[in-house]
Amino acid sequence: NQHVLSRLLAVQRNMHSKVVIIGSGPAGHTAALYLSRATLEPVMFEGQFANGFAPGGQLTTTTDVENYPGFPEGIMGGKMMEKFREQSVRFGTKIYTETVSKVDLSMRPFKFWRENYEDKVPDTADALIIATGAAAKRLNLPGEDIYWQKGISACAVCDGALPIFRKKPLAVVGGGDSAAEEATYLTKFGSHVYVLVRRDKLRASKVMANRLLSNPNITVLWNTIAIECKGDGSVLNLLVTKDTKTGEIKDLPVNGLFYAIGHVPATDLVKEQLKLDSDGYIITEPDSTCTSVEGVFAAGDVKDKKYRQAVTSAGTGCMAALECERWLSEHF
Ligand code: FAD
Repeated sequence: NQHVLSRLLAVQRNMHSKVVIIGSGPAGHTAALYLSRATLEPVMFEGQFANGFAPGGQLTTTTDVENYPGFPEGIMGGKMMEKFREQSVRFGTKIYTETVSKVDLSMRPFKFWRENYEDKVPDTADALIIATGAAAKRLNLPGEDIYWQKGISACAVCDGALPIFRKKPLAVVGGGDSAAEEATYLTKFGSHVYVLVRRDKLRASKVMANRLLSNPNITVLWNTIAIECKGDGSVLNLLVTKDTKTGEIKDLPVNGLFYAIGHVPATDLVKEQLKLDSDGYIITEPDSTCTSVEGVFAAGDVKDKKYRQAVTSAGTGCMAALECERWLSEHF
């Protein structure tokens, strides 16, 4: 209901704000909390329910979050993001359940357009915080939707310790550093870890590859892809695999499947206007959230391909707010 109400309130057009936050995950809301407490009246565009995205971000797609400090019993991801939102609103953040579809960062004030209003006069802001997040790549295998978060995950650090994976055979898909790191990490919990590698070699760095290959609790299945996820309807218990050279189909009994095939940062909005790295992440100055355009700050997974955690996103959200506040006080 709060989202419907916010859409109704969005009839007010062509507004100018001191600072606008695009995105509503832990990074966006932490920035909103700091900026609203600093009486800067931030405005947030939290996105809409569309194409697998939802206001509140990635945590709304998961069950228990057990590694965010302050919740000793764990908390459901969706519930946690409701609490983030409540706290942002409590201190005066104005939230619109709309997506920003276009920005013009070429001059200040920055211009931006809401989806479906691209032909209208844009809204403007003195400063922007980009906290649009990222999405883990998935294979979209048959059965994946049924067992997503019931054995299938895209984050070993987030989910590996959950009871459903303890002392069970697990599989990791991927051949890069993330796959090697995640597989090694999962050996703490699973009875054995299989790594499915599409080719006959790893892309991982030598150190990571050696660590993976020398671990007796890991078996690398070369030239192997997953083609179907099966289970008993409530949990995953089998992966159907295919040999990419011989075409041979095999069953691999596992209770966990972890994708480690990369993430896609949500940077389409700014790709021609901010400096991005070769993987599309926003580049920020070292130890800072400042982007290549003065007055535009980036926080959370959209600028972080290393840690990708709720707590680190909240951390950079806080940094963005403090840097933005300082920048506004120096320029306005
Ligand atoms: P996101 O959470 O990605 O949120 C970005 C938001 O911005 C989204 O709501 C999106 O709709 C919105 N948005 C994007 N573009 C626009 C636009 N143009 N206009 C308006 N809005 C826009 N981390 C942990 O620490 N612990 C865990 O247990 C854990 N479990 C996870 C489980 C799963 C299944 C997944 C996918 C991730 C998990 N993570 C976990 C990682 C964690 O969710 C992310 O690190 C964190 O959510 C990143 O926060 P963020 O604020 O950068 O962006």
